[in-house]
Amino acid sequence: MSNKPKLAMFWGASCGGCEIALVNLHERLLDVDEAFDFMFCPCLMDTKLRDIEALPDRGIALTLFNGAIRTAENEEMAHLMRRKSQLLIAFGACAKGGSIPALSNLHAPVDHFASIYLDNPTVENHSLIFPQTETSMPEGELQLPAFYGRVKSLSQVVDVDYVIPGCPPEPHQIWNAIELVLQGGPLPPRGSVLGTGQTTVCEECDRRKEDKKITRFYRTWEIIPDTERCLLEQGLVCMGIATRDGCGALCPQANMPCSGCYGAPEGVLDQGAKMVAALGSIIDIDALKGLPESEITAHIDKVLGSIPDYAGTFYKFTLAESLLKGTVRR
Ligand code: SF4
Ligand code: SF4
Repeated sequence: MSNKPKLAMFWGASCGGCEIALVNLHERLLDVDEAFDFMFCPCLMDTKLRDIEALPDRGIALTLFNGAIRTAENEEMAHLMRRKSQLLIAFGACAKGGSIPALSNLHAPVDHFASIYLDNPTVENHSLIFPQTETSMPEGELQLPAFYGRVKSLSQVVDVDYVIPGCPPEPHQIWNAIELVLQGGPLPPRGSVLGTGQTTVCEECDRRKEDKKITRFYRTWEIIPDTERCLLEQGLVCMGIATRDGCGALCPQANMPCSGCYGAPEGVLDQGAKMVAALGSIIDIDALKGLPESEITAHIDKVLGSIPDYAGTFYKFTLAESLLKGTVRR
């Protein structure tokens, strides 16, 4: 058995993009391999649960936990990895803030099951069969983990040492975090966000910023934006103003608005609320001066009505950690 410190990566409710992000370290993977015994990563290797359970507590130097907590299995693994790890990092937007899986918090589980197993045009389910946590078969009892009513972030079920945000995190930020551990020096205060900056995507975006006066919003397929001007000024909902920097403004560089995957900037509690507040100050109402309040309100409603999906726009990556949490009770 290797004497190198152990490195683990586990996925909860996520898409697998975080694992790809690790692979995107390219030749630096050789440095990771030299420094660590990379011993657990379900989508890459066949380490068994019993192998992890057999390790001494804190026997893993560093665990990158990606994915949100959707099922009882996700939560059990979060507790196990917490116990077995010296450092547990919430890796990526799903582990950090629930991300896209947490948008399902706006609907009850019964609705998810109905749309997946009943109302789906490619499904014929005349016997109304839904997944069960226990099913008896001739071979024995089959079990599936319980499906929770609400998606949570990792830090809502276990203590987390650090956060690396992003959907997925950028390779240079992953490397910064790994290097920090490898150097063995003093670590940043617990709870810190690693590998990012302290400001917003707007600060690292080199588009021309002028006066923001929005008369309506557009979806990305409705206009071809000017490649030099701020996208928000052109009516695209660019979340850069309410998003932590660190990615290098990747999406605006590709003429696409930032959708906010790095989460709220330092010191901001709720990314969606920050964005809504920012939009409130840039909707153009100059031409409405002197009109009755009801007409001004109707105009603002019309402008806001051109944003099709408030939750999916303002809380795409942070609903689970938001002030609202997005829980639906039925
Ligand atoms: S709102 Fe978007 S396009 Fe405008 S400066 Fe900020 S990141 Fe760049
Ligand atoms: S520009 Fe925004 S959405 Fe795009 S990678 Fe950066 S933080 Fe994420």
